[in-house]
Amino acid sequence: MIVVMRPGATREQIAQVRHVVEEHGLEAFVSEGEERTVIGVVGTDLDRVSHLGTLEGVEQVVRITQPYKLASIEHHPERTRVRVGEVSVGNGGGLVIMAGPCAVESREQMLQTAHWVRREGARVLRGGAFKPRSSPYSFQGMGLPALALLSEARAETGLPVVSEVVDASQVEAFDEHVDLLQVGARNMHNFVLLRAVGQSSKPVLLKRGLSATIDEWLLAAEYVLSSGNPNVILCERGIRTFETATRNTLDLSAVPVLRRQTHLPIVVDPSHGTGQRSLVGPMALAAAAVGADGLLIEVHPDPPNAKSDGDQSLSFAEFGDLMDELRRLQFVREGAPADSGQRAPAAANGDVAALRQQIDGVDGRLVALLQERAVLALQVQRVRGLDSHGHDVARERELLERAASGDAGPLTPEELTTVFSAVVRVSRAAQRREAAADEAPGIEGRA
Ligand code: PEP
Ligand code: MN
Repeated sequence: MIVVMRPGATREQIAQVRHVVEEHGLEAFVSEGEERTVIGVVGTDLDRVSHLGTLEGVEQVVRITQPYKLASIEHHPERTRVRVGEVSVGNGGGLVIMAGPCAVESREQMLQTAHWVRREGARVLRGGAFKPRSSPYSFQGMGLPALALLSEARAETGLPVVSEVVDASQVEAFDEHVDLLQVGARNMHNFVLLRAVGQSSKPVLLKRGLSATIDEWLLAAEYVLSSGNPNVILCERGIRTFETATRNTLDLSAVPVLRRQTHLPIVVDPSHGTGQRSLVGPMALAAAAVGADGLLIEVHPDPPNAKSDGDQSLSFAEFGDLMDELRRLQFVREGAPADSGQRAPAAANGDVAALRQQIDGVDGRLVALLQERAVLALQVQRVRGLDSHGHDVARERELLERAASGDAGPLTPEELTTVFSAVVRVSRAAQRREAAADEAPGIEGRA
């Protein structure tokens, strides 16, 4: 801490500051300049002299160390890895996907979702038992019976579960059924609850308050840590800003800022962060890119009929697509479920290898067919001559319609249309490339 004295502060005023500092067991280093004097204050409990700014002759007091100790990276340079059941979050544990419905609604909904998200690669299952809703008339959650359903889902899938605890009196019941206690955004400032989860043996997922600064959020974490629970995971879930296009403004810069300030793992919730299904995927990828340790994502078997947060919940298929993308970009690195956890029997592995070999054969034939098609497209262009751009939209449409109405099979007409649009586009690209080369042989190869 640095105390800056006013220009012209008297010797007595400077001596008084030094006296107060030393009286509280801290050290004062006085540095007298030509214009003004500054006093460095050193010691472990600087809060004891937080009133120095009120002394006569003092201009300002600047804190240079963080007000949170246990959460700060200064006091704990090694990053923390938090265990949630058997899953590690943070410090090189890989991107951990936590997924499930906003609220537990029924046994069937919960089990179906649990199996699906596990199959797609989620490592932790979410499900709200108590829902702190803005309106008292909205669905408030199933309450305690939901905890038993979460336990059942854990037993069936092996996934540890996270659920929100809204009152200190519930901590005991949650300890019994839940692997990760969530403190919601609306409760980030509920210091009684923070102290109560601080006495739990289970890790805590601490969401950022709707209008909390990063420092306030870390001080909330400090409540949990200083109550004896070292296992805190922070969750950025968007903050209130003037922007109304999204439900909240997902503050992704909080991730690298927190990395600089704390050793605690950081999870991002793009569902509450955006409030819109179509934005969840892009912001999930962005969160992974800025270095989040995990993602918390709402998934529902029937989003339009969800009892809460349907607009921001992904369908099973949408969640599957997002997981594929996270794997493609290598944010999620674990192998297919058969390679991790439950191994497929050896015979089944043999069958899979044989089928994959057949797929490789089909892919080889597809490549040859695509090249054959492109050669024909180039011949068409040569016959037509260089003066025509040759784009026949009507024929292209016919071709796509024919492709889309092809033999019945697992691919839908929309999916076949996607594939053939790409085929048409690359054929056109090859035609254009050849036309450019024929027109200007000297500049072949240049774009
Ligand atoms: C939730 O995750 O279920 C939830 C209510 O989120 P938040 O506290 O971030 O609004
Ligand atoms: Mn929700």
